[in-house]
Amino acid sequence: MSQPRIAVIPGDGIGPEITQATIAILESTGFEAEWVYLDAGLTAVEKGKDAMPEETVEAIREIGIALKGPTTTPKGSGHSSANVALRKALDLFANVRPAKTLPGVKGPFADRNLDLIIVRENTEDLYAGIEFMPHPDIAQAVKVITRPGSARLVRYGFEMARRQGRKRVTAVHKANIMKMSDGMFLEEFYKASKDYPELKADDIIVDNCCMQLVTRPEQFDVLVTENLYGDIVSDLCAGLVGGLGLAPGANIGLNHAVFEAVHGSAPDIAGQGVANPTALLLSAVMMLRHLGLNEQADRITSSVLRVCSDGKCLTVDLGGKASTEEYKVEVIKRAAG
Ligand code: NAD
Repeated sequence: MSQPRIAVIPGDGIGPEITQATIAILESTGFEAEWVYLDAGLTAVEKGKDAMPEETVEAIREIGIALKGPTTTPKGSGHSSANVALRKALDLFANVRPAKTLPGVKGPFADRNLDLIIVRENTEDLYAGIEFMPHPDIAQAVKVITRPGSARLVRYGFEMARRQGRKRVTAVHKANIMKMSDGMFLEEFYKASKDYPELKADDIIVDNCCMQLVTRPEQFDVLVTENLYGDIVSDLCAGLVGGLGLAPGANIGLNHAVFEAVHGSAPDIAGQGVANPTALLLSAVMMLRHLGLNEQADRITSSVLRVCSDGKCLTVDLGGKASTEEYKVEVIKRAAG
């Protein structure tokens, strides 16, 4: 295979630190790419650009694949989300977020072998960005759910489940209250399920889902859901398997894919050299698999598993003392031998 071109957005906060570590680990396996570095988030805003500059979107549109570090979005006011802008501009409709127990990582469910995947709709719902104030004391946000948007998302979930030999696909919703919007999502889910008879298809109301996730998470396999529920439930699932430092993700569209961790820019630990790069690294592993580079993907995964199960070189978020740099060196060492 010729050397792939890959867009890289280091982002801000801990983004540059974990991106540097991730790329060093990828390259240590012999993986070579033409990395095209692009601005987004605070780094772009500080240069007087939009949080997701048009030239960044256009470069990813042309290159087709990107590895993205986290970008800060101010609360309440200030610039709008670079992530939401990118997902919408490239129509990255499916956000795939696996949550898998890693050996040696402590947590409430360390002994239960969790292996679930959240497939979150990525472009609609309350993230459509339609907010207005008809009165100074009333703020309204519009939840947009479309039939085609729901249909392609649920189909992606079933296809992915089939490809990976999964057993069960569960729709997460609130169709008891939002009968039209979530009702339509659910309708499309069961319509698509007929084409996947080997997969058990069922559904669960989002509040009950959260309760079940923190009591019997091992019952779930693939969860497909709308944008807001998926955002919340995937952070919850990250917590089940050891925290945000371990939770990878991929944003998938018909012609483009952007790989990024579930977590944000972690301003509380930025610049200290203690961030855990595993979530971005495992996102990069998803990218390698997307490129068909399964051998390198397997090597990095098994190296991460060995470093975690060994437990001697864990980052602070996992109860260890290792810096980002020490962890990186250890993963590279294990991947080599
Ligand atoms: P966060 O995910 O950045 O941090 C939450 C907690 O998890 C913090 O205590 C942080 O230190 C810890 N944490 C996160 N990633 C870690 C890692 N790799 N290693 C060790 N600890 C880690 O969430 P937040 O504080 O709510 O958000 C900060 C900023 O990130 C906000 O501006 C938010 O909008 C943005 N954000 C960006 C993305 C993205 O770019 N994809 C995603 C979520 C949030």
